[in-house]
Amino acid sequence: MNLSVHFITSIILTAILSPWWGYQSLIVIVGGFLIDVDHYLAYIIERKDMNLVKAYKFNRYEKTSVNGFINVFHTIEFWVVCAIFSFYVEIMVMFVMGLILHMLLDIISCYINHCLLFKRWSLIATMISGFDNVNNSKSH
Ligand SMILES: [Zn+2]
Repeated sequence: MNLSVHFITSIILTAILSPWWGYQSLIVIVGGFLIDVDHYLAYIIERKDMNLVKAYKFNRYEKTSVNGFINVFHTIEFWVVCAIFSFYVEIMVMFVMGLILHMLLDIISCYINHCLLFKRWSLIATMISGFDNVNNSKSH
């Protein structure tokens, strides 16, 4: 998914929620846009390179999950933990709203690009099946 789509949709959702949640609604941007930082972390770990532009181009045009690495913020386990925290920490509700928006857009994009079955959606399933499987799906 194009980062600008995540950013723009997160801003729109923030604007929609701001009359009720005020400045706390800005947390939507963290869940809706900044969680893609795990792609950058995967790039740094795999390529031993911190160049943000190269990392963006790599994830956007080459592949999403670097060989043997999982995007942890894009896993079911992360979503469940965040959802549970949202019952106890009020500001997490905004984060989860952004996360839901982000993942809906990623799943739609993945469906369109025929990569739903190839992405690693579960940390536990990946641990069981092994991290060595190469994932060459497109970026999300
Ligand atoms: Zn994403």
